[in-house]
Amino acid sequence: MLQVHQFPCLSDNYGFLLHDPASGETACIDTPDAEEYLQQAAAKGWRITQIWNTHWHPDHAGGNEAIKAACQRDGGVCTVTAPLLDAEKIAAVDRTVRDGDLVKLGEHTARVIDVSGHTMGHIAYHLAESAMAFVGDSVFALGCGRMFEGTAPQFWDSLARIKRLPADTTLYCAHEYTKANAAFALHADPGNDALIDYAREIDAKRAAGEPTVPFPLARELETNPFLRADDPDMQARWGGDAPHETFAALRAAKDSF
Ligand SMILES: [Zn+2]
Repeated sequence: MLQVHQFPCLSDNYGFLLHDPASGETACIDTPDAEEYLQQAAAKGWRITQIWNTHWHPDHAGGNEAIKAACQRDGGVCTVTAPLLDAEKIAAVDRTVRDGDLVKLGEHTARVIDVSGHTMGHIAYHLAESAMAFVGDSVFALGCGRMFEGTAPQFWDSLARIKRLPADTTLYCAHEYTKANAAFALHADPGNDALIDYAREIDAKRAAGEPTVPFPLARELETNPFLRADDPDMQARWGGDAPHETFAALRAAKDSF
């Protein structure tokens, strides 16, 4: 069984170390803060052997060089896997990947999914056997990333790929943005009882200082307004003849919310 160690870093990022006890391999999922990752791995007694980047933003790939150098100083190897279309902006890359490529951690396999839109190359890593996916800044609990580089049809296609994952998949996103996302979601979809319940739980968790990440995809399918841009009620409320048009209206509304 794979083990995930999750910890807060920077102002609102989550760091993730993915560990395979059978092989002893450990992958950093993104590298927002090299020092924090190295300390967390050392505290677990895990030796970092890989980095899997989701996209080029510095709070996701900024620690690549320092972590790789620290592994090499210890006589180890750290292989950096990064998305092809973001790779020229990412340091220390060993392997570039695109949609459909497979990445191994020991005997475990992650499939790369194109979730571009936040950046042109953004990818997610889906581990089907473990029913988990690391989605970076593509999808958040009750939200999605800002559309910095892509187009609305592109971003919608990315969200549709996430929607097609098995509903029992657990999603690991990279930021604790859930409380603010819930406020917009309630504005976007005010009659949604499942959303109202979810927002209440989120308030309680944050008040207790608990993370809202990871979270089940199944729940997002019922409550995340961006994943519901193909829902007739959402289309009636937000306009658009195609899901990507409804998505664009929601994304623009959230940007100025
Ligand atoms: Zn980002």
